[in-house]
Amino acid sequence: MKVIVSACLLGVPCRYKGGANTDKGVISFVAGMDVIPVCPEVAAGMPIPRPPVEILRGRIVRKDGTDMDEIYRAGARKIMKEIEGEDIAFAILKARSPTCGVHEVYDGTFSGTRVPGEGVFAAMLKEAGIPVYDEEDLAAGRIPMDIESEERNADRRN
Ligand code: SF4
Repeated sequence: MKVIVSACLLGVPCRYKGGANTDKGVISFVAGMDVIPVCPEVAAGMPIPRPPVEILRGRIVRKDGTDMDEIYRAGARKIMKEIEGEDIAFAILKARSPTCGVHEVYDGTFSGTRVPGEGVFAAMLKEAGIPVYDEEDLAAGRIPMDIESEERNADRRN
């Protein structure tokens, strides 16, 4: 079984403004697991750095109103295609990203306002039946430990 993790949480400098969201808790939690690092925005062909985007009325847009929805969704779909057939145990994604966000996203006004919702990649994983968490779920102990032990047991069996 494999685990999908937002690459920026693992220290990959793929954030829209450059740099990473390195999360030591995530790195230590997935140590020894079969990790698939992903960045749907880089998979979409976007450069680093790149203009920020948010979700407005269900579509990914830039602050100047440029609709980036198809491009960003294509990146997410590309990763879904790449992981097709893989036995994915769960995913840990970056909170509130318009692609990776799991529980909340920003509301499209670029004012830092959070609303319940999910990023387009997180939504695709959920639709595929893959349990999806963010780094805050991990820090708060909201990732069921039996997921971890199932993963570790699977490792031992292999
Ligand atoms: Fe991180 Fe996801 Fe944004 Fe890539 S798309 S920088 S993995 S939050």
